[in-house]
Amino acid sequence: MFSVGTKSVQTEPSSRLPIAILGAGITGLAAARHLVRAGRRVIVFDPARIPGGVVRSERHEPGWLVESGPNSLQETPAVAALVGELGLASRRLAAGPAAKNRYILRDGLLRTLPATPPAFFRSGLFSTRTKLLVLREYFRPRRPRLHDLPLADFFGEHFGAELLAYALDPFVSGIYAGDPARLSARHAFPSLWKGEHEHGSLLRAQLAAARAKRARGEPAGPPPIISFPNGLAELPQALAATLPPGTLRLGTAVNQLNPSPGGWILDTSPGERFAGVILALPAPALARLSLGPPGARTSLSSLDLLEHPPVTALFLGYRRADVEHPLDGFGLLCPSAEKSPLLGVLFNSTLFPGRAPAGHVALTVMLGGVRQPDLARHPLEYQLPIAEKALATLLGTRRPPVFVQRSHWPRAIPQYQMTHDTYLEVIAAAEKRLPGLHIGGPVRDGISLPSCLAAGERLAAAAHAA
Ligand SMILES: Cc1cc2nc3c(=O)[nH]c(=O)nc-3n(C[C@H](O)[C@H](O)[C@H](O)COP(=O)(O)OP(=O)(O)OC[C@H]3O[C@@H](n4cnc5c(N)ncnc54)[C@H](O)[C@@H]3O)c2cc1C
Repeated sequence: MFSVGTKSVQTEPSSRLPIAILGAGITGLAAARHLVRAGRRVIVFDPARIPGGVVRSERHEPGWLVESGPNSLQETPAVAALVGELGLASRRLAAGPAAKNRYILRDGLLRTLPATPPAFFRSGLFSTRTKLLVLREYFRPRRPRLHDLPLADFFGEHFGAELLAYALDPFVSGIYAGDPARLSARHAFPSLWKGEHEHGSLLRAQLAAARAKRARGEPAGPPPIISFPNGLAELPQALAATLPPGTLRLGTAVNQLNPSPGGWILDTSPGERFAGVILALPAPALARLSLGPPGARTSLSSLDLLEHPPVTALFLGYRRADVEHPLDGFGLLCPSAEKSPLLGVLFNSTLFPGRAPAGHVALTVMLGGVRQPDLARHPLEYQLPIAEKALATLLGTRRPPVFVQRSHWPRAIPQYQMTHDTYLEVIAAAEKRLPGLHIGGPVRDGISLPSCLAAGERLAAAAHAA
């Protein structure tokens, strides 16, 4: 027996104590599921009233489905296996074939981004010079690269300025709401970094990856994009449903954690001891935590400096007849060179059925990011006229939307910039100093939903083994 404040706690072998998980987003829920499957007891804490973190899908009458956070999930083999194991296979919606089509704004006009090498060489979107640079890249020799560099420099070295401005830049806006000149090549796109390291040419790396996929019996091309009839929130709901009753403690934020002999004690439940703690939290929440006893605190406060630009998503519903464009694509992206107020627009009702009532279409306009953070912070009355004006030009919208929903993310996506190693070192040092503490998720393991699911598995394995 040992005492904590006025309460006394029975000591147990630490492997029989539960593991605490802070954060019931996709990362924390995935970690919880793996630990439960390994026979461990787990308690997941989250101040929110529903699990899922930033994955939020809401139905609005008479038939709108609004995704405030992520809109699409890449069905990697691991995601496909999970969807099957969670019993969601019959609810899986694959994006229609039109979603392969992506529009890029160039010289004020929407142009199709070529999706295959033959389409690229036929396309009028890029100059002959750029096409020759791409051909030449195939023969680029392997040379050691000793230092990280900005993604823009890395990509420009391979493919030149035009492909950087009209392919990479908008792509980076769509994923990170970021700026390739400030992101780290090594951290933001580790697969490109590894591809160059192993093959010299990114094109040869891509062909080698395609061959390896074929050898594993996986379908060619990028993974399908999927969702569910009630939106992506079905995924965290299904993950949460696999956990034993009493596992989720919602409405509960943990602010302080103390290592104690053979375990951990949290401020929310001083009478309980935990074998280990998983922090599946975004950087700003990690920065606020108080770790360890007064006088010997381990601080993660510097993680608050990790840039997360604000993003606003405007979900706009239109009568079909009020939009000229066929909306035959995933959406459109606006390269920075075009100076558009929009980062891009998703064509939600083309991607998946059930996103808009009959006779209507749903679009999501993304604003802000690193490019225009102030625009994301303005209220709807300021943003809506800007979005409507741009959509009238780009998509031929003729009347105002009949449904509007604004989702604002003050700190949306972590930017893996050239200083990212510093943040990773802070995290690794805290784990080293406080055995039994495991930190992961987008702050460290990649920002996409598949990366978060993989992070959950990694964290669970580390906590189980400790
Ligand atoms: C606007 C937006 C669009 C995106 N679009 C896509 C997309 O289309 N496809 C894609 O793959 N990815 C997308 N992403 C990225 C992806 O959604 C996220 O990286 C992922 O959902 C993060 O999951 P998480 O569990 O790590 O963190 P979060 O979802 O942030 O969950 C963390 C949880 O921790 C809780 N918490 C905070 N403080 C505490 C505390 N002190 N104690 C306990 N709990 C606490 C929070 O309440 C929250 O529920 C998008 C992200 C955003 C913001």
